[in-house]
Amino acid sequence: MASHILLTPIEYLKGVGPSRADVLKKELSVFTWQDLLQHYPFRYIDKTRFYKIAEIVPGMQYIQLTGVVTGKEIAGTGRTRRLIAHFEDDTGRLELVWFRGLKWIDNYVKTGQRYVVFEKPAFYNGKVNLVHPEMELLSENRKEFNTSLQPVYSSTEKLKKFSLDSKGIMRLQHAVLTEVGDAIPETLPANLLAKYKLPPKTEAMRHIHFPPSDQALARALARLKFEELFFIQLRLLYYKQIRTRRFRGIVFDQVGSHFNTFYKQQLPFELTGAQKRVLKEIRKDTRSGLQMNRLLQGDVGSGKTVIALMSMLLAIDNGFQASMMAPTELLAVQHYHSIRKLLDGMDVPVALLTGSTPASERKTLLAQLKRGELPLLIGTHALIEEAVQFRQLGLVVVDEQHRFGVEQRARLWRKGQQVPHVLVMTATPIPRTLAMTVYGDLDVSVIDELPAGRKPVITTHRYESARLRVLGFLKEQIKLGRQVYIVYPLIEESEKLDLLNLMEGYDQIVRAFPRPTYQVSIVHGKMKPQEKDFEMQRFIRGETQLMVATTVIEVGVDVPNASVMVIENAERFGLSQLHQLRGRVGRGAEQSYCILMTGNKLSKEARVRLETMVRTNDGFEIAETDLKLRGPGDLQGTRQSGMLELRLTNLAKDQQILKEARDSVQQLLEADPNLELPENHALRNLFLSQRKKGEFWENIS
Ligand code: ADP
Ligand code: MG
Repeated sequence: MASHILLTPIEYLKGVGPSRADVLKKELSVFTWQDLLQHYPFRYIDKTRFYKIAEIVPGMQYIQLTGVVTGKEIAGTGRTRRLIAHFEDDTGRLELVWFRGLKWIDNYVKTGQRYVVFEKPAFYNGKVNLVHPEMELLSENRKEFNTSLQPVYSSTEKLKKFSLDSKGIMRLQHAVLTEVGDAIPETLPANLLAKYKLPPKTEAMRHIHFPPSDQALARALARLKFEELFFIQLRLLYYKQIRTRRFRGIVFDQVGSHFNTFYKQQLPFELTGAQKRVLKEIRKDTRSGLQMNRLLQGDVGSGKTVIALMSMLLAIDNGFQASMMAPTELLAVQHYHSIRKLLDGMDVPVALLTGSTPASERKTLLAQLKRGELPLLIGTHALIEEAVQFRQLGLVVVDEQHRFGVEQRARLWRKGQQVPHVLVMTATPIPRTLAMTVYGDLDVSVIDELPAGRKPVITTHRYESARLRVLGFLKEQIKLGRQVYIVYPLIEESEKLDLLNLMEGYDQIVRAFPRPTYQVSIVHGKMKPQEKDFEMQRFIRGETQLMVATTVIEVGVDVPNASVMVIENAERFGLSQLHQLRGRVGRGAEQSYCILMTGNKLSKEARVRLETMVRTNDGFEIAETDLKLRGPGDLQGTRQSGMLELRLTNLAKDQQILKEARDSVQQLLEADPNLELPENHALRNLFLSQRKKGEFWENIS
């Protein structure tokens, strides 16, 4: 098969012996020719610009000159033995120096010939030197690599010891491309190349390493990014389609008394238009006979909990059990309490199952679940343990936040014979591009409307020097009957220091807000769940006015009367975390405030984060900025997904390409679901060979 040549082990490349092969494997995970070709340049040096010798000044980067070699000599002995060539143009002269390969150079560099030289100028004894420059006969110029933009590759110290610096790697790339010639197999169907005007694979590979022009580089990049995204989408949508075909969905065909009673009698507010629309989407999915896999996106405070509950009531109305998983114990407890409150007076048993549920209680609970006597279960990861068995689980709601990866989601499918419907709720909005890549196999619902009457939170950034004024402001607010959160960072690596910081902060607050006028709660991750719950409850009941906490309160906590959020060391938090925290206030009718406290020294990025928070309350806008600042690696869910092996694509910038890739995969699978048509044959082979790497995808959602 044609693709085999690319799978040639790297040691069989000219210029790569066993030791270089070894270091390439260890340092770059390059095992085959193909791996090497996929070690793409990270930038290019413009070789279209020519300098004059008289223009050279200290501190210049690589420059290109053209001139004549007017003479040569060998100087020095032993380790200083070198070949010097005198080189001049119409503005001056300089020396070209070689310490290695003298014989070859002496042969190649001829007196009287005109050359193009390329190197970073060095100053030695007040004279300009070019040490080991790249040389090309003027007539040959740009023929060798056929490029005007010279690629720059990332390298490492170890690689450099084997002369595999950027240039060394460039030579290897050139060697591979020479070997494979035009034999790089096409990986995309011809009609797609035509439709999106993409160059063939061979050309793209050649041009990404040795672009003959800016335009050629742009075309190569567009093609290779498209390909990256295309295969991710193919994987997601192909398995989605298999899943749809393989599992029949449970049918919720009636809206019964639980749902109706709740809607008519319990619901303490009118649903927003967006909430109603999402409920309709969920109803339609769960009635369709297909298994629902839906992602519910909505900004903090947009009212996802009630949607989750109503979907669960729908399951119950149809004779099924439902469960809701939260990423932390605290959040599970919160959900449990708010759902019990919403259901108050209705006859729907709800239980809470977490890691700290006592064994005896757990046993009873599991038995009830299995017998089908418990329709509604709220909990943490504990829910996906093997021992937890439902009689008839119809719907799982996953309130997702960083810690619930795709793999954990997949574990759910073993729970019942019939695969339950799944509703994934994101705790914060994620950019569309990222959602399409990470959750691309899910259908998406968006709540893009906040409940009426919400006043946007007023956000300010304050330095340490303003602390007294901030404390005064808190007192005023408390006098008005409001409650205040004060949040400290607690980041694992510096846990001890952070805890100390938190305790000092707590002491400071207690001093500034003395009992009995004021009461202060404290909650952090090192406390026992019961203690945490006790402190939370005091705050929820309004017995304490201030809550000093770490980010454990980040998600889900809902105390409408709390209207001020102070974030200490705000520069240490990421954007989405800041937005999450701010979302804890602004839930009641009063004007709410978020105060970002920082020291004076701020990095550029921290400044952008703080400015963004002050400027906007829009979670989607914040998520986009976050993506631009950090790249997708750190954003929600991407780590676990293991999918974002994007070498070239920048999800913040390449939205259009992503859209095209996804559209084309959709069309492809509509026309040829099993990739059986002759024109899709190559694609199918390639796809199946890639499958090994991502086997677990088959089990997923
Ligand atoms: P999130 O989407 O962040 O999970 P919640 O579900 O916790 O948001 O809802 C935030 C607050 O808004 C809760 O106090 C909830 O009762 C309230 N809420 C939800 N929907 C509405 C609505 N349609 N009208 C008024 N308040 C609502
Ligand atoms: Mg929530």
